[in-house]
Amino acid sequence: MTLADLKSFADLHPGLATLTVGILGSCVGSFLNVCIHRMPKGESVVTPGSHCACGQPIPFWLNLPLVGWLSLRGRARCCGAKISVRYPLVELITALLFVAAWTMLAGPKVAIAWVFLSLLILLAGCDLDEMTVPDAPNFALVGTGVILAMLVPSLFGESAHPVEAVNRFRALIDSLLGVAVGTALVWWIRTVGTVIAGQEAMGEADIILCAGVGAYCGWQGALFCLFGGSIIGVITALPSLVLSKIKGEAYSGVVPFVPSMAIAGAIWFFRGPELLMAWRNWGVS
Ligand SMILES: [Zn+2]
Repeated sequence: MTLADLKSFADLHPGLATLTVGILGSCVGSFLNVCIHRMPKGESVVTPGSHCACGQPIPFWLNLPLVGWLSLRGRARCCGAKISVRYPLVELITALLFVAAWTMLAGPKVAIAWVFLSLLILLAGCDLDEMTVPDAPNFALVGTGVILAMLVPSLFGESAHPVEAVNRFRALIDSLLGVAVGTALVWWIRTVGTVIAGQEAMGEADIILCAGVGAYCGWQGALFCLFGGSIIGVITALPSLVLSKIKGEAYSGVVPFVPSMAIAGAIWFFRGPELLMAWRNWGVS
């Protein structure tokens, strides 16, 4: 079966193709759950196989994405322990984003989106769940972004030049510029923030994440990742901030920068050019 066969199949049966993509996404989400659970602890994501917190191995039919959790109604079969709603949630979000990429994007950008979004979900999940972001997938975001830019120059709209090598080189520069801007921007904010607030405003993980978004989306994407992400972060932290003010307590929570920046990065990947256009039109009128 070739890629052309797959494409004609998708054209003939759009509903079935979308469903297949959704199932694929939920399976990837299931694997991301394992990564989110194990990577921050430095454990292998391959061995041992899935097992319950009580030590019992989980048979594969109870491990099916979404269906497994629903059929168990959120309780482990072996010991009755509660299974976090995080597991089906990550599977559902991954499935929906895979389908969104499939329906909204075209060509190789769909597959690139799947890699990009999976890594973003992984990083955001680790930050939310364990409050630490492992370096390996974060650097993988930067690395894959640069490599994919060279492989698929059209990711950066670089396809105009008749010589393919020139397009690839230009896309590489676009991607590296995104990495540079992302790194410099967060590093600068971090330095200024540390001086003003007297405590570390943003961590190294934020720097690498913003660089990674830059690698996939270019320097405008890195810019949006930081500032759009900050706005999303403040909005999500606002309710608990207001609540602690009303109660007269000191605010103890942290602004969830990594998930917010990941959301901003994903938004830019899907709708970056449109956002840029809207911004320009807004400036003119
Ligand atoms: Zn158990």
